[in-house]
Amino acid sequence: MKYANVIVNISHENLDKVYAYAVPEEWRDKVGIGSQVIIPFGKGNRQTKGFVLELSEEPDFDLDKIKPITQVLEDGMVLESHFIQLAAWIREQYGGTMNAALRTVLPVKTKLKDKEQKYLHLAVSRERLSVYLEECHKKNYKARVRLGEILLDTPDLKMAEAVQVYKVSRDAIKKFEELGLLQISSQVVRRNPVETHLVTEKKIVLTKAQEEAVGYVWNNYQNSYHKPVLLHGITGSGKTEVYMELIERMEKLGKQSIVLIPEIALTTTMVTRYYQRFGDRMSVLHSKLSLGERSDQYQRAQNGEITVMLGPRSALFTPFSNLGLIIIDEEHEPTYKNETQPRYHAREVAIERAKMCGGMVVLGSATPSVETYYKSQTGQYGYVELQERIGESRLPLVYVVDLRKEMRQGNRSIFSRELQAAMEQALQEKKQILLFLNRRGYAGFVSCRACGEVLMCPHCDVSMTVHNQNVLQCHYCGYTIPMPHTCPKCGSKYIAGFGIGTQKVEAFARAAFPQAKIWRMDRDTTCKKGAYEKILENFQQGNGDILIGTQMIAKGHDFPNVTVVGALAADLSLFDGQYQSAERTFQLLSQVAGRAGRRKQQGSVWIQTYKPDHYSILAAQNHDYQAFYQEEIAYRKLMAYPPFGSILTIVLHCGREDLLQMAGELLAGVARKQAGEIFTVMGPANASIYKVKDVYRKVVYVKAREKEQLIKMKNLLEEYIRFSQYFRQIMVYYDM
Ligand code: ADP
Ligand code: ZN
Ligand code: ZN
Repeated sequence: MKYANVIVNISHENLDKVYAYAVPEEWRDKVGIGSQVIIPFGKGNRQTKGFVLELSEEPDFDLDKIKPITQVLEDGMVLESHFIQLAAWIREQYGGTMNAALRTVLPVKTKLKDKEQKYLHLAVSRERLSVYLEECHKKNYKARVRLGEILLDTPDLKMAEAVQVYKVSRDAIKKFEELGLLQISSQVVRRNPVETHLVTEKKIVLTKAQEEAVGYVWNNYQNSYHKPVLLHGITGSGKTEVYMELIERMEKLGKQSIVLIPEIALTTTMVTRYYQRFGDRMSVLHSKLSLGERSDQYQRAQNGEITVMLGPRSALFTPFSNLGLIIIDEEHEPTYKNETQPRYHAREVAIERAKMCGGMVVLGSATPSVETYYKSQTGQYGYVELQERIGESRLPLVYVVDLRKEMRQGNRSIFSRELQAAMEQALQEKKQILLFLNRRGYAGFVSCRACGEVLMCPHCDVSMTVHNQNVLQCHYCGYTIPMPHTCPKCGSKYIAGFGIGTQKVEAFARAAFPQAKIWRMDRDTTCKKGAYEKILENFQQGNGDILIGTQMIAKGHDFPNVTVVGALAADLSLFDGQYQSAERTFQLLSQVAGRAGRRKQQGSVWIQTYKPDHYSILAAQNHDYQAFYQEEIAYRKLMAYPPFGSILTIVLHCGREDLLQMAGELLAGVARKQAGEIFTVMGPANASIYKVKDVYRKVVYVKAREKEQLIKMKNLLEEYIRFSQYFRQIMVYYDM
């Protein structure tokens, strides 16, 4: 390659500025994407460091003005070039700008002001203090007595601890300082977001199955057999212990580990478990950290102060210099997909990052994504299983209730008679109840309440979605029909979009069980900071009889006293117009089912549905992953959906409908020209939500067998758009 596009001085501003340089003969085999180079820059030709983003045979710049690279730095891939390579890969895979990709992978760059930690020190003898406390007692100065007693016990302690843990008043501290009883000192600290209460680790001896799982991954690793491994084990089968053992082994080799967890499952309990094992060698990232705390965690990682980072998707970009292991817990979770530009999937990026540093990826799940499972069965991934729950907890009994029958027999309540009876009994026995409303796809499919028929697209076999009240449309191909007034199958007039929210459930529950104490958890009740944790904590400790919620309550939480779980409308996720809807339904229901009977008592789960014989529901009922997978994979194969094909969604945004329509048609036209045997192009169709804040959206879909082909198609379209005058007012993004 003769020319290189170089980004200058990355750690400063202006990430966008890319300059073309010539690569002299002598450097041609040394230079690669991500290489650090020295280049002459600006008018004075100042020798400056830069990173190579792209290489080409042709310069996209005036030949006369191109300067040659001075030198390629060869002392190994430094960390940052690693990240640039990763950013380049992300841009290639998912489209968008290099700028957006770089912002994704490069953690906060701004160095923030150091934070100081204040300490309290007893400044007089204990005896003196005791004398003073006598006096306070007599005058009933409660706050001072409290502070005094703590100082007698712990003469040096953190101020924050005194205030937050021991509830000492700041006024009392001030008074003591004035009286010369205590001194305050301060010290620079790196903020550690993990609350470090002293906890004693219970020593766990791995079971035979766990040992085998650890051994399998470890052998692969040591034999340089680095493909990802799926660890398939139901909730409570001891996956977390396996992860921790692997992390510890990595530590012994001087390697660091990243553990990805869906944000919602990143509970105090989970963090504490890792803290118990790794102490100050671990840290955590999550959305509630301040920018300063975040930057400190990256700093600690870069300085080698920590070896384990726990966090959601973005923790993937922790700047460890000797990364050995990336664990993705609950790998099937949709939150691993980034929903802003670039729309990357954490699983794919993790695999790429591990590849770059010779590390391992372990994917853990009770209900693996169909794609991951498929890969584990076809040799692309390794596979190891934990089949049994640890200890005495048993899987709950799951009942499926046919809502069509309830309707026919005159029950219009949202609680089936069976669920209602189970709830009554639980309340009598002072047990707790979880009511779960699956709200994905709330926006709307249309179904018949009498026979359960759902209106499907005849071309795509996904459900049609309501648009503008009286039109039904398919997301995938744009096929449209007017909204019918009667059921096409049985003629009933009870046909409508499904409209039920958590508030309505709460109203029904209050009417049915006026004595019960009810909590509701959704976006409205948890928007205040900490509200979510508070409700959970209260309920976990037995305060409250019924907890109503959406996905939020399904994940990862352990409610010891819950014996009855109701999934009120399992169908909601079955018909959300996505090809993964059966998979999501199975996963959600399996997860919800896992909330009941986590202890010795047997729990029961009630799945209410209009589709009692759908395979995703039956498989969840029987805790049978295999049964689900076999059906699902056959359907995917038939429809050429992933993993048998890939879909590229191109979304176009514009404030002007006419321009948008034209651009959509142009783009689809360009794609169709390539189509032939390899590609199927659909659209332009209106996006499922067509207009948002006066901006219209259209989508074009391209389907192909191989993802590589779609990447080529994406590159071609990006190139076309860059040079087309019709796209100047159109925002375009890609979703692979
Ligand atoms: P998972 O991550 O698969 O849900 P966990 O690792 O959380 O499972 O294990 C479930 C429970 O069993 C935890 O309370 C854990 O401490 C306990 N546990 C796991 N492995 C063992 C073991 N080998 N011996 C005793 N208890 C264990
Ligand atoms: Zn019907
Ligand atoms: Zn369709």
